[in-house]
Amino acid sequence: MASMTSTTETVRAESTDTKRVLLAAPRGYCAGVDRAVITVEKALDLYGPPVYVRKEIVHNKHVVTTLEKRGAIFVDETQEVPEGATVIFSAHGVAPVVHDEAAALSLKTIDATCPLVTKVHREAKRFASDDFDILLIGHEGHEEVVGTSGEAPEHITLVESPDHVDEVTVRDPEKVVWLSQTTLSVDETMETVRRLREKFPKLQDPPSDDICYATQNRQLAVKQMAPDTDLMIVVGSRNSSNSVRLVEVAVEHGARAGYLVDYADEIDEAWLEGVSTVGVTSGASVPEVLVRDVLSYLAERGYEDVKPIVAAEESLLFSLPNELRRDLKAKNGADADKVRHDAGSLH
Ligand code: SF4
Repeated sequence: MASMTSTTETVRAESTDTKRVLLAAPRGYCAGVDRAVITVEKALDLYGPPVYVRKEIVHNKHVVTTLEKRGAIFVDETQEVPEGATVIFSAHGVAPVVHDEAAALSLKTIDATCPLVTKVHREAKRFASDDFDILLIGHEGHEEVVGTSGEAPEHITLVESPDHVDEVTVRDPEKVVWLSQTTLSVDETMETVRRLREKFPKLQDPPSDDICYATQNRQLAVKQMAPDTDLMIVVGSRNSSNSVRLVEVAVEHGARAGYLVDYADEIDEAWLEGVSTVGVTSGASVPEVLVRDVLSYLAERGYEDVKPIVAAEESLLFSLPNELRRDLKAKNGADADKVRHDAGSLH
């Protein structure tokens, strides 16, 4: 599990007489993850197992293992899918070449790419067609970055952090724009942009925020809680970018320590020594049941008082992918959106 401890010595929580939990809201599933998970569940119901999924549908261990038990087969490459089979593309998006690979194998494809990732793909295509140099802020090798870069590889340069700005070169400093991965730290990204703009004063901003609403809201809640928090527990997987960012943001904003756990049984009792206030949140790919397990674990150890910290309200829902809605409608004679929330094991 990832862990971080702040370097500032904060003297607080000397007494653990008052034990409480601050519970972040919003936390857990975002609209893109919700849609992607339901897509796999519905596809399994509709077509029967196996249904192939290229890459982890979302970056959460529990979600992936649960769907595997129901008959989903996760593969890394399109070529691992048998000819003519059904394959779902994950929420993180794919490069155009992946669609070509699927077509060559006559695969039936269902694209569960989050619409907010698709939006960044569209921006990349548009700026590339206008012959801009695109500085894509993101993490090398992350599936979303691979997918977005694949839209216009000859126009996109990856910028991983503020420290990488010095190495960046462009063809024409008058025609340069920055875009970003959707799940980054807002503050670090803005620092990268500040340094890029020092170097390229004509740098254009994206038409709208690329860091998505869910990433921003979860970080906002953690920022509000962190100064009052001795220990922040973030439920999420290590390969979940937005979950890892939440641990970093917590410690940067005053939590004395922060840890990332997939499951409640990964919590070390020693973390609770001298701790009065525990902050709890979860990444955008985490089912609420895992948070409830953490709250039960804490309640058993005296942390029964749970106070919600509400930083934003969320109500966004995305329609299921068109391909799936069409097939659901053909089978059920019903509007697929009306049946989207009757699947339940991962919600
Ligand atoms: S974290 Fe944001 S971009 Fe990623 S799936 Fe969720 S809503 Fe979409």
